[in-house]
Amino acid sequence: MSRRNNLVHQALQLIVNTGDHGVLQSELWRKLSASSREGSRIALKLENKGFIRRERELFSGRWTYRLYPKRRPTSINSIIDCPCLMCPEGFRCGAWSSTSPNKCEKLTEWILNLMQNGTNPSGDN
Ligand code: SF4
Repeated sequence: MSRRNNLVHQALQLIVNTGDHGVLQSELWRKLSASSREGSRIALKLENKGFIRRERELFSGRWTYRLYPKRRPTSINSIIDCPCLMCPEGFRCGAWSSTSPNKCEKLTEWILNLMQNGTNPSGDN
């Protein structure tokens, strides 16, 4: 992996790990030992690819950007009560089996409950 691609990868990882707080662009480049020019290019590239969003922010009297992840890894908590995890039919359940998620009342009920509670089953809230 080239140094630039490596920096892009590391930058995205760091931004994703900041979650809702985001990270100031200058702070990120300091952590990555990158120049501000190099860092700005990386931020634009990540924004253009739809991985992050940039918001202008006045910090210590200067305008800069705070970088936020657009998507975050799904938490295990989002599926902790999924009926499939403890299902005795799990070993033979499959899309093409007689026992299938396509016809499962327990799974359908669980998904409907998530949707009624405003939780996206995919974990993208
Ligand atoms: S889809 Fe239904 S039957 Fe299949 S493992 Fe999940 S809960 Fe069990």
